Amino acid sequence: MATTTDTHCPYCSLQCGMRLAVPDGGAGSGDSAGSGSGGALPLVVERPEFPVNRGALCGKGQNAAALLNPAARLTTPLLRERGNGRHRGELRAASWDEALDRVAGGFAAVRAEHGADAVGVFGGGGLTNEKAYQLGKFARVALGTATIDYNGRFCMSSAAAGNRAAFGLDRGLPFPLADIPHTECLILVGGNPAETMPPALRYFRELRENGGTLIVVDPRRTRTAEQADIHLRSLPGADLALALGLLHLLIADGMVDTAFVAARTTGFEEARAAAMAHWPERVERLTGVPAAQLRDVARRFGQARTGMVLTARGPEQQSKGTDTVKAWINLCLASGKAGRPYSGYGCLTGQGNGQGGREHGQKADQLPGYRSIDDPAAREHVARVWGVDPATLPRAGRSAYELLDSLGRPGPDGVRALLVMGSNPVVSAPRAAHVTERLRALDLLVVSDLALSETAQLADVVLPSAQWAEETGTMTNLEGRVVLRRRAVDPPPGVRGDLWLIRELARRLGFEQGFDDDPETVFDELRRASAGGPADYSGITYERVRAEDGVFWPCPAPDHPGTPRLFLDAFATPDGRARFSAVTHRPAAEEPDTDYPLRLTTGRVLSQYQSGTQTRRVSALNSAAPGPFVELHPLLARRLDVTEGELLAVTSRRGRAVAPARITDTIRPDTVFMPFHWAGAGRANTLTNPALDPTSKMPEFKVCAVRVETVRAEAAARARARTPEPPPSPGSHPTPGSAPGAPS
Ligand code: SF4
Repeated sequence: MATTTDTHCPYCSLQCGMRLAVPDGGAGSGDSAGSGSGGALPLVVERPEFPVNRGALCGKGQNAAALLNPAARLTTPLLRERGNGRHRGELRAASWDEALDRVAGGFAAVRAEHGADAVGVFGGGGLTNEKAYQLGKFARVALGTATIDYNGRFCMSSAAAGNRAAFGLDRGLPFPLADIPHTECLILVGGNPAETMPPALRYFRELRENGGTLIVVDPRRTRTAEQADIHLRSLPGADLALALGLLHLLIADGMVDTAFVAARTTGFEEARAAAMAHWPERVERLTGVPAAQLRDVARRFGQARTGMVLTARGPEQQSKGTDTVKAWINLCLASGKAGRPYSGYGCLTGQGNGQGGREHGQKADQLPGYRSIDDPAAREHVARVWGVDPATLPRAGRSAYELLDSLGRPGPDGVRALLVMGSNPVVSAPRAAHVTERLRALDLLVVSDLALSETAQLADVVLPSAQWAEETGTMTNLEGRVVLRRRAVDPPPGVRGDLWLIRELARRLGFEQGFDDDPETVFDELRRASAGGPADYSGITYERVRAEDGVFWPCPAPDHPGTPRLFLDAFATPDGRARFSAVTHRPAAEEPDTDYPLRLTTGRVLSQYQSGTQTRRVSALNSAAPGPFVELHPLLARRLDVTEGELLAVTSRRGRAVAPARITDTIRPDTVFMPFHWAGAGRANTLTNPALDPTSKMPEFKVCAVRVETVRAEAAARARARTPEPPPSPGSHPTPGSAPGAPS
């Protein structure tokens, strides 16, 4: 016999509904993950009535119960005894009291010596709303630090900035996924849901079955691109130029919806002038997309009565990601495809709570409810809910990469102690070898995670945290639907929840009250803190979420139905009009040159997730995707004399990574691709460029310049360099223009 609990997947932003069947007597340490002993683990069962995925799950969701195997978990806090000088000492088991005393004492000491901002907090886009909220409050109130940001900065921050500039509000999708099949033309830019969120693909398939057109923009012919009517195989980093070229054609061919533009937007003239400098042949040169194909896409999108543009990390993870998003929004606005049914711009959010995680205060510049930390009224409101003087709230801190780059640095801007919760920047941050060095330079690194991630391995204190089905909390999916992940099993003995951990640290820092560890109590406080803000959750309760299978924010009152579709009457700007932006093309921060002649782009694969802290511990997923690889075109492989599976060295200005070759004609010949889920020699983020978008502070993960050669050729070159040149034979003289010893 088993007890069933309705919950949601531990991974991506689709937050698929699932049911966990827990054997009576409680979950044991069964063998679903292949290494446990004792009773069986819970079973993942379909939950067909949940509307988003209607029972469908990808392999990650199907194998999620393996994460509950205690054999793969940390079950006791770990402490590192610092040795003398640079000797770091070993991690050893410790009690919770000892570990928490060390953390609180260490934070207090750093704060006393270097100031509050020298203690930093780095959160995660997978944390529940309650944890994200409480972590932001802990930083601002208990630590008094401005130094907080999270790995979601690396995910959707450019889309967030573009959304806020154009519409006055940032929600990933302004409509439910169920609207997608009813639009006539959809352009998906730089996203691959066939691998990142397969159950969502059904919506795109239904769109085509209904006679709609699916257009995919991607440098690779991905599994998603294979299902499209048109695939634009653009250069990495060229999505801004592509959007400008399409807007140019809409204008030139008279496809602008002038009535919509006049009634519901501002700024068209400036955007029009900027687009006119991007004629099709110029855009062909900038993007690699033939002008004829551009004209075809512009005609289809411009003439459709309804249309959508969805972006994902491809165009967003660029040093011009915000302008790129604005350019695609311009296209929607000019053609009247926003603020209307079955039309609009949206972002396919990545992480499980990428949406909610950026709404409630773990972002450097935000307070709960998506309020600006620099807005006096917002500070007043939130301070009242928190019972503190608004003047004591810190101002905006530094963005994720800037924060990581400042770790351990001497001087007033250096961060000396850091709490990392639910994030693994050793694998996921750009220029990862440098970030690893900065983490090592800290006086005190504290990591709370479910397993000994690569970042936890560097820590002075490791705190084993509960996860997913071991605790209750809300998540906000990519549609803005707040869902409830219910606790189905107890955490393993010795493991505690992050809300408890925050409460205990706050107590040790002198805050006996104000940090509850009951998720529903924390959510009720979050509702009050968000009331009246852009992301207003005040009308959402656990009871409603359970009864309604999720509630869409904004929901400003208990009797408000929630808001599945935004902007139908007005945009969320002061005058209700959407804003065009006059953006123009600019190249990537790093273009190919003689030393680094190829472009590298990075991404995800079907069976792994983000930095792999979860999925690399699930045997079924690991055997499907066991390690990194370098994807390259057969023409490039021939030029570099590469055979399938041969080890390749990929080198950028930041470092060198080694992984086997995977030869495929689905990629452009001038571009190579690496997935970013692994640490070690094949870590893709060793190579990536931390050049930041000036507005969103998004690093340029999606394109940098690299050199690729076989490890064999590299070794041969090294051997040649070490071998002294043979002396010239007696009597021989080099011919003019030739080097001694050069082959004739
Ligand atoms: Fe989980 Fe995302 Fe897969 Fe759904 S698509 S099962 S939420 S990983």
